[in-house]
Amino acid sequence: MITLLVGTQNRGKQREYQDLLADLPVKWVSPADVGLTGFDADENGTSFEENARRKALSYAQAAGMPTLADDSGLVVDALNGAPGIYSARYAGPDATDADRYRKLLQELSGIPDAHRTARFVCVVALALPEGTVYTARGTVEGTIGHAPKGSQGFGYDPIFVLPDGRHLAELPPHEKHRISHRGRAIAAFKPKLLEILEALNTPDDG
Ligand code: IMP
Repeated sequence: MITLLVGTQNRGKQREYQDLLADLPVKWVSPADVGLTGFDADENGTSFEENARRKALSYAQAAGMPTLADDSGLVVDALNGAPGIYSARYAGPDATDADRYRKLLQELSGIPDAHRTARFVCVVALALPEGTVYTARGTVEGTIGHAPKGSQGFGYDPIFVLPDGRHLAELPPHEKHRISHRGRAIAAFKPKLLEILEALNTPDDG
């Protein structure tokens, strides 16, 4: 069986990938499992796509094994796309999820509902240590609420409101996965992922 590294230090993401990829014939390991706790992956790109590639490749090369990583974030129209690729760092290096969404609510105070449109974006990337990288993208549309609600998920989920009025943090994991940016990116990616795993499993006998 192929061993794949899930290249993220984010516990919320690790949990979601465990669920999303449970049906694949692979053994998943985390950075901590391969001695890369605290590894500072390269994410100095200027787009979700570029950062996902850089992250997956830097982990794959550090660990010497195929690695799946993503770059994701929340794009808010009234803030010209912020926090976007800076979603994780929006309120400084030591901030909590709550600090970040409170800052966002503050920035949007006084903005009427019609102008609070936003989307989560996720680009997943699978990198092989020799340098090949494959990617797929998923998004989910919604609006930013006026107060947090719900206790599931992570990050900005408590303030992200779906078209049906529920906040993303109110959804149990299986429901979030069906509609989320990450769930959709993985669904789009799975056929390719299976192909790649198949090729890695098949010895190249020329
Ligand atoms: P990065 O991809 O590690 O740079 O961080 C993405 C950041 O975007 C996370 O730390 C969260 O703040 C936010 N984010 C990404 N995906 C989600 C999600 O599914 N729910 C809520 N917040 C998310």
